[in-house]
Amino acid sequence: MGALETFNFDLHCHSTVSDGVLPADVVVRRAAANGVSVLALTDHDELAGLAVAAEVARDAGIRFIPGVEVSITWGDITIHIIGLGIDPGNVLLAGNLDRMRTSRGRRAERIAAEFDALGITGTLQGAYAYAENPQLIGRAHFARFLVARGVARDVAAVFKHYLVRGKPGYVPQQWAELADAVAWIRASGGRAVVAHPGRYKLSRDELRRFLAEFKAAGGEGIEVVTGSHSPEQYGEFARLAREFDFLASRGSDFHGPEESHVDLGRLPPLPADLKPVWHDW
Ligand code: AMP
Ligand code: MN
Ligand code: MN
Ligand code: MN
Repeated sequence: MGALETFNFDLHCHSTVSDGVLPADVVVRRAAANGVSVLALTDHDELAGLAVAAEVARDAGIRFIPGVEVSITWGDITIHIIGLGIDPGNVLLAGNLDRMRTSRGRRAERIAAEFDALGITGTLQGAYAYAENPQLIGRAHFARFLVARGVARDVAAVFKHYLVRGKPGYVPQQWAELADAVAWIRASGGRAVVAHPGRYKLSRDELRRFLAEFKAAGGEGIEVVTGSHSPEQYGEFARLAREFDFLASRGSDFHGPEESHVDLGRLPPLPADLKPVWHDW
């Protein structure tokens, strides 16, 4: 283990292939410059950045792990499942993500219709202007347009007042089923990890029920140290990793220099007693 601890793992980040603000090649070079030695690119519901990222990582002398962040609906809650070490050529995974991207396009039209009704027009074209990859449209693209339009001060403020449940511009979306998302990830040779488990509005009981279902479905890990967790949450999810015998992951969830408070690779280490998701890599 001694030598392993000198490796800097960042297993969660985004590029312009989904809702990150930097292209995949720039993300990889920035990670290398920040001292990351093993990087996973985990764009939302999309694999299109992985080939370029792998190539640039090779040039930059860092190890690259192909990843993805799959949106699922559990009950009526949206949860994100990270797949690590997936095969981007896997037809089951790629085909299902393709369907999810199509349904994102339909949701975008409904979001824009909601804003039209509010008198905030042009949001569909506006959001797509911020989406480098027109196959993958998300709320972050709407948020960036709304900031540019002066509707809110910054992206965080947009997500306080719009686009979220109970606020204008919110459109509910039926994402993948938990068991399906885990099955696709595993079928492609990957390992399924719950992204930022501290971000969901789940009671303690619901969280435990979710983690039990995730494990029963073949899920293997949870993010313990991630950009949106507080130090208290590192402790809370370390305890849950021990209780459920989950592998632990570490990832910044970097979306861009302005929008993310944690840069690539700039996270504390995992608690030393946890078994890292990379233990057998
Ligand atoms: P979507 O998958 O299109 O519904 O959008 C989810 C994405 O919106 C997340 O991955 C974040 O990039 C962004 N997002 C959601 N909530 C917030 C927030 N409170 N502040 C900033 N970005 C957010
Ligand atoms: Mn995102
Ligand atoms: Mn996420
Ligand atoms: Mn993410």
